[in-house]
Amino acid sequence: MFLTISTSGDAAHPATDLGYLLHKHPGKAQRFSTSHGTAHVFYPEAGDRRCTAALLLETDPVALARRGRGKSRGKAPDAALAQYVNDRPYAASSLLAVALSSVFSSALRGVCASRPERAAAPLPLRIEVPALPARGGAELVGRLFEPLGWTVTADPVPLDTAFPQWGDSRYVHLVLESDTLTLAEALRHLYVLLPVLDDAKHYWVSSDEVDKLLRAGEGWLPGHPEQHLITSRYLSRRWSLTRQARERLELVRLAEADDSEVEAIDNAVPQDSGEEAEEKPAPLAVQRREAILAALRDAGAARVLDLGCGQGQLVQQLLKDVRFTEVVGVDVSVRALTVAARRLRLDRMGERQAARVRLVQGSLAYTDRRLKGYDAAVLSEVIEHLELPRLPALEYAVFGHARPRTVVVTTPNVEYNVRWDTLPAGHVRHGDHRFEWTREEFRSWAAAVAERHGYGVGFTPVGPDDPEVGPPTQMAVFHIETEKEAKAA
Ligand code: SAH
Repeated sequence: MFLTISTSGDAAHPATDLGYLLHKHPGKAQRFSTSHGTAHVFYPEAGDRRCTAALLLETDPVALARRGRGKSRGKAPDAALAQYVNDRPYAASSLLAVALSSVFSSALRGVCASRPERAAAPLPLRIEVPALPARGGAELVGRLFEPLGWTVTADPVPLDTAFPQWGDSRYVHLVLESDTLTLAEALRHLYVLLPVLDDAKHYWVSSDEVDKLLRAGEGWLPGHPEQHLITSRYLSRRWSLTRQARERLELVRLAEADDSEVEAIDNAVPQDSGEEAEEKPAPLAVQRREAILAALRDAGAARVLDLGCGQGQLVQQLLKDVRFTEVVGVDVSVRALTVAARRLRLDRMGERQAARVRLVQGSLAYTDRRLKGYDAAVLSEVIEHLELPRLPALEYAVFGHARPRTVVVTTPNVEYNVRWDTLPAGHVRHGDHRFEWTREEFRSWAAAVAERHGYGVGFTPVGPDDPEVGPPTQMAVFHIETEKEAKAA
C-alpha cells in the first residue's frame, strides 16, 4: 500500500518544508511499526522546487490474522481478513488510512511548531495513490474529492495488462491536485475517504468511530454533498451510528448557517401590487403566524406541535390563546431551543402555563413516538431546510407516523423572489434553504403527500397575492379525511 504527497516551492518557500509539516526529515528513510505491519516514510525527491514524501505500508499477514482473532470475539474475523492477507497487500485501504493517521498524526491536526504559518496556509499539493480500491468507480471518486477543491484524475486499472479483454479491475490510479488546501485538510480528506471508497474496514466499527469521523470531517464534511454516503460507508452502514453522526452533522451545519438573511426578508414588508394600503402592512413573518393561527383555530385544534419551531415565536403566539391547551415546540437545533426557552421565559413561567408548553430536541427526518397523538402539527418554513432526498423521511415521520389530524405547511414561493428589492436575481431567501418551490411544485408535492397518507389538502396564500407571481409565502392545510382514518391513526 502506497501513496505519495508532493509539493512545489521556490527559494523563499522551499518545497522541503514539507518535511517540517509532516514531522519527517527529508534526508532520512524511517520505519514505524504499526499493529498491521511496518510503515516506511521516505522522500523519492527533496529539492527547493519539488519535494515528494512517500508512505509505504507493508502489511504483516501474521500480525493481521493474530490481531483479528484476538479482537473479534467470535465475529468471524478470518473471512474478513483473508482478503488483506491474500490479494490486497497493495491496495490503499483502511489499513493505509490508519497508518497515515498514526505516522502523520501532528500533520493531520495541523500542528507544526517550527513552521506554523506554512501549516496554516494552502499549499500546492499533488497526491498519488497508484492502487485505490474504488467501489462506485472513478465517477464516485470525483464526486467525493471534487467538492473539496481537488482536481481529480482517476484512471481505472486494468485487471491484467496482458489480457485487456478482461476489462478493468475495481482499482483506480488516483491523482489529486490542489493549491487551495492546507496539508492537514488534505490528510484528513484521505483519512476519511480512502476507507469510504474501499467500502470496508479491517476492524470492528464502534461508537468512537463517530467522534473520529466528525473530528476528521471538521470544516468539510458538514457541507459535503455526499455526506450521507460518506457517513454511512465510513461507519460500515451501522444504522445507529450513522444516525448519530448525521444528527450531529446537522447541528453543526445549522450552527454555521447565517440567520441574518432570513431575518431581513422576514421583517421586510411585502409590497402590495395594488392600491396604496391605508395602514402599513405587517412584516411577512407576522402575517404568516396570523395565517397559521387562523388555520389551527378553524381546525379546532387544541394540542399542537410546532415542528422546526426555531426560536419559538409561533409557540409564544399559541400560548397567548387559551384554546391551545398543549403546545410542543420541536427543533433539531439546541441553539434555537435555548433562544426559544429564553423568549418564553420558561424558567419563570407559572405552573399552569408551564404545564401547557414543552420544547423538545429532535430531528424531523426520523419517526418519533413523542409526536404521536396531537390534533395538529405546523411546519412553518421548515421543509426547504432539508435536502430534497430527505424530504420523504420527514413526510413519513409526520404524515405516516405522527399523523396529527391537521398539518399546516408553509414555504417560500420562489416565483415571488423577483419582487424582493433586496434579493439579487436567482438567489434563495436564506443561505440554508436547500430549495425554494414554485406554486406548481409545492402544490404537486402537497397533493402527492395527501394522496399517499389519506389527507385532503387546501391552499391559502400568505401576504399579497400578486396576480403574476403569486404570494410571498404559500401555505397548505392538510386534514385527515374520514373519521374512520382519524380513529385508525
Ligand atoms: N418555524 C420557524 C423556524 C423556521 S427556520 C419559523 O417559521 O420561523 C427552520 C427551522 O427548522 C430551524 O430552526 C431548524 O433548526 C429547523 N430544522 C431544520 N431541519 C430540521 C430537522 N431535520 N429536524 C428538526 N428541525 C429542523
